[in-house]
Amino acid sequence: MNNPHKPKWKAGFFGFCPKCEKAKIFKGIISIKDNCNHCGEDFSKYETADGPAFFAIIIIGTLAGIFAAITEIMHEPPFWVHLLLWAPFSIIGSIIIIRISKGLMIAHQMRLT
Ligand SMILES: [Zn+2]
Repeated sequence: MNNPHKPKWKAGFFGFCPKCEKAKIFKGIISIKDNCNHCGEDFSKYETADGPAFFAIIIIGTLAGIFAAITEIMHEPPFWVHLLLWAPFSIIGSIIIIRISKGLMIAHQMRLT
């Protein structure tokens, strides 16, 4: 059976309302709106807490560490090259991971309620 009102994982992954899949759930870079602009779903009742930050730290921290070590071993660049490479990678990568994990966590919580 296919429930048309079941929250959609794909919509959550891409930052859309998991219920209606029409409106964005973000009002800023990583802030969640209070309500869906299309279907009116109340997002304030879904709490993601530190979950998205945890995923960002684990995933991006691991990747940045591995890539920095490989770069250092292969090219031995000066410190400022590492700073120019891995600071933007970490910031932008963390924002992407936080957005994805927030959307997925809201979709998951919506599915449980
Ligand atoms: Zn909606």
